[in-house]
Amino acid sequence: MTHVVTENCSQCRFTDCAVTCPVQCFHGDGERLYIDPEVCIDCNACIPACPVQAIREEFHLTPEQEHWREINAERAKDLPVISAKQQPLPTAEARRAELGF
Ligand code: SF4
Ligand code: SF4
Repeated sequence: MTHVVTENCSQCRFTDCAVTCPVQCFHGDGERLYIDPEVCIDCNACIPACPVQAIREEFHLTPEQEHWREINAERAKDLPVISAKQQPLPTAEARRAELGF
């Protein structure tokens, strides 16, 4: 099992999640983060840390979110580990408001 970063992370990238992860399984590009399913230990620590509820346990994914499972696995392979807090993207606060958080 694993946890999955879904659509709400796009244009946010607050990275609050990454600092909570005990096994450094978050990877990032310029827009968002992804979880490496080979490394995630399902500890749940990242879920309450995300201000826009972007992270879900894989068995809680909706049918519309299922594709994020493969995207996380594929993208995490090629991207650097993100384990420290970073500046949110300039679009982050607007995105959070748009999502209603
Ligand atoms: S805290 Fe949430 S929105 Fe921010 S990078 Fe992590 S998953 Fe994405
Ligand atoms: S569930 Fe735990 S191990 Fe998996 S990504 Fe979240 S914080 Fe990291």
